[in-house]
Amino acid sequence: MPPNVARLPRNSAGRPVPGNIAWYEADDDGAILVTRDDELGGHVTCPCTPGNGTPRFGEQCPVRQRQLMLQRCCGLCTQAIEPTAQMVFVGEIDAQYYLEPPLHPLCAAYALQVCPVLHAAGERIEVALTQSYTLAEDRITGVSANGTLRRSTFPFGDPVAHHLAVLEFYLAFPDTPERLTAPTWLTQRGPRVCTVNGGSSNRK
Ligand SMILES: [Zn+2]
Ligand SMILES: [Zn+2]
Repeated sequence: MPPNVARLPRNSAGRPVPGNIAWYEADDDGAILVTRDDELGGHVTCPCTPGNGTPRFGEQCPVRQRQLMLQRCCGLCTQAIEPTAQMVFVGEIDAQYYLEPPLHPLCAAYALQVCPVLHAAGERIEVALTQSYTLAEDRITGVSANGTLRRSTFPFGDPVAHHLAVLEFYLAFPDTPERLTAPTWLTQRGPRVCTVNGGSSNRK
């Protein structure tokens, strides 16, 4: 387990909870909270605090998701990804964009090995390796008669979208990604761990 992952708050089963996951306290009814400011226009906010209450795996906290995406931070361990470092997006084959923030390669490898959902999906999960990404905005534009939210994608910072729709998440479009299935990437990574620059292999 990467050290920065070991420091994350745990769920009741002792599993580290990724930094982008939403937490629910007992009195939280799950309502979507909307607020407005000059920077984002209408946007979804969230009062949750990692470590307080119960995490809901598979559900992202919109506030932390946006922070992690904006600041180029790892969606698992929450630490910054160096500006020149490669990062990993994990998703379905040929995904054009990602709703989950980027990951450090070490954190992605860990997640792929221990997350039951990702592990079970095997070859249907692809990693996109890149050094940079472009953001867009996933905004709620309305509610249909049966209560389903309607959403649209807007360019990042689009001033018109501020007035039309409510920002929930940022979407990351990786720039010229290298794509591999998760099992292939994990296999390729294996030997590389032993050949890090300046490795200790030639110490006598
Ligand atoms: Zn939250
Ligand atoms: Zn990380």
